[in-house]
Amino acid sequence: MNAPIPFLDLVTPHVELESELMDVVRTALHKAAFIGGRSLLDFEEHFAAFTGAAECAGVASGTDALLFALIAGGVKPGDTVLTVANTFIATAEAITQAGAFPEFIDVDEHTYNMSPGALRAYLEVCALDTSTGLRLGRRTGTPITAVLPVHLFGQMADLDAISAIAREFNLLLFEDACQAHGAEYFSKSENRWRKAGSVGVAGAFSFYPGKNLGACGEAGAVTTSDAAVARQIRMLRDHGQASKYYHDVVGYNGRMDSIQAGFLSVKLKHLSRWSEMRRAAASRYNTLLSSVPGVITPFELPYWKPVYHLYVVRVNNRDLVQAQLTKAEIGTGIHYPVPVHLQIAYADLGYEKGDLPITEALAGEIISLPMFPHITSEDQQRVVDEVAKATQQQKQLSIAS
Ligand SMILES: *Cc1c(COP(=O)(O)O)cnc(C)c1O
Repeated sequence: MNAPIPFLDLVTPHVELESELMDVVRTALHKAAFIGGRSLLDFEEHFAAFTGAAECAGVASGTDALLFALIAGGVKPGDTVLTVANTFIATAEAITQAGAFPEFIDVDEHTYNMSPGALRAYLEVCALDTSTGLRLGRRTGTPITAVLPVHLFGQMADLDAISAIAREFNLLLFEDACQAHGAEYFSKSENRWRKAGSVGVAGAFSFYPGKNLGACGEAGAVTTSDAAVARQIRMLRDHGQASKYYHDVVGYNGRMDSIQAGFLSVKLKHLSRWSEMRRAAASRYNTLLSSVPGVITPFELPYWKPVYHLYVVRVNNRDLVQAQLTKAEIGTGIHYPVPVHLQIAYADLGYEKGDLPITEALAGEIISLPMFPHITSEDQQRVVDEVAKATQQQKQLSIAS
């Protein structure tokens, strides 16, 4: 009997780094340094350098990072923000929490990220507010002030095209980089490599334990090259205070723990190596799956460097494939089974089935296979064998019917 294959192995990297991580805890205890301080400043400096943004502000979660980025970047209550429904709910939640309204753009059928063509087509038919020159949300009727693409599964959205559209329609560009620590693309317009979180007004990262760079608890960060935005985020995360007990704005308790910052600094040193291991694993999957009919593997644009937060394939009979893998004790995931525009929480936006055809088709066909830096090629072979068995059964079923 084969050992089970987990969807994600969070144990091995922590065991490897155990003594360094325990040193972080010991130092924090001995200094009673729990919030902010040297440990946070060090991490912020290293993570800013890692992304190529001028500044980084550590916060309590990826959701707070998105929320503070939007507010500090200039999104106002009542505004409309364009994003995608093919994402984790937090992308839309942050827009709502900022008092703004999300409207959803369909994704590209190959990259699964915001389609620049769909974005442009959407904006072109929105009414123009002649007093501001801004477009008005088709459903909300309020000014569209920002666009928030998501770098889903570790693959960056097409920011060359999206930035150009944002400039043309006077929109602020924010990046949901919560799944894309270290992802890069080659900007043709600028003739240089750009990293996730360094292109828009601000980029939001999550350090939820399962993310490519994960804390041992909750944490997040905003990256920005705008000093005023960074300053505003540092106030927002700390009850709106610029100095102790002097509150300039109504803020939040959205700080990052010093211990988490310390853990993240230890792990950040290994992140580029882990991303290489993920890319190597993805390319092994691509090769192994190329001989399995009916499986669409992730699309890689030339000159793009995804970091494979998830390895997601598209198959005809997803439920059968998932059942087969579950029977073989192989962990899988569906990211995500219900697109945001069809979630009950967002029912009052009035979206219906059929509004975002590509997003909706994906939700029924995608399955995330085990993906983590330390996955072995033997385990990947077993995963692919089970996928092949399921597609074989599927073929027999369709011949019989
Ligand atoms: C994880 C994630 C978030 C939220 O991050 P938290 O740290 O869980 O708050 C937001 N957007 C995307 C795309 C994510 O994957």
